[in-house]
Amino acid sequence: MSRLQKLQQLVEKEQTPQYINNNDRPYTPEKGKDGNAYALVRFLWDDNNDVPYVTKYQHSWEEKKPGAEKGRWFIEDCPSTLKEKCPVCEANSEEYEKGIENYRRVAQKRKRSQNWYANILILKDPKHPENEGTVQLFRFGKKIKEKIDEAIKPQVIEGMDPPEAFDPFDLDTGANFHLLYKTIEGQNNVDGCKFDKISSILEDRKEREEVLSKCKPLAKLVDKSNFKSYDELKKKFEEITGKNKVVPKPTPQQIESPEEDDDLDFDIDFEDFKD
Ligand SMILES: [Zn+2]
Repeated sequence: MSRLQKLQQLVEKEQTPQYINNNDRPYTPEKGKDGNAYALVRFLWDDNNDVPYVTKYQHSWEEKKPGAEKGRWFIEDCPSTLKEKCPVCEANSEEYEKGIENYRRVAQKRKRSQNWYANILILKDPKHPENEGTVQLFRFGKKIKEKIDEAIKPQVIEGMDPPEAFDPFDLDTGANFHLLYKTIEGQNNVDGCKFDKISSILEDRKEREEVLSKCKPLAKLVDKSNFKSYDELKKKFEEITGKNKVVPKPTPQQIESPEEDDDLDFDIDFEDFKD
């Protein structure tokens, strides 16, 4: 690599927006008192991103002490995204292997989940109209990903006219997306999310370029430099789960009737329960 190429790389790196901080969280429409939230959005894919979305595994759960109303949150990226060892996943495997329902449920709560990130243009945001016209980073889970996949490669059902595939990231031949979050039995529900009919937006070339220029570089999100090290994660995990406290083993009753025990004892010392 020549000195000039090196310099160019350096400049490029400096010009890359550093948006991964607490002030630039992924977009979520605000829920109303009824527990529902709505926005109309369009998925974007600019030329600077090789792919329209990236995916990573994350751990996110609230660690509550028995009887406590509020606990502490553990929200971290899982190094398994980078095919590296993760102390939380390791601890979870140990819990599963014990074959005891209580521990399985602890592990279930702490398990990694897969999320995807893409750029979106906010077309309508009834609660926050100031967001309309802005480009935002959007984080979504498996259900919304399935809707995108279904648009790209619709399921063919025997006897039915095959649905037409489309590129949801195309501004001419894509479609707007109804982002509808409901709260059903206390849980976030995205079943109502769906693509609108095919439509062209941002037909003015200059306007289109301007919007696309605001897309965030997605590769950065899955860059190793943004992941905590194994030791850092282990330390936080142990702090939050109270690894150093002595906790009694579950009583036979707890093991036999886990369904009655919603507030599990999360202060489990993994080392103590190792055979
Ligand atoms: Zn993990």
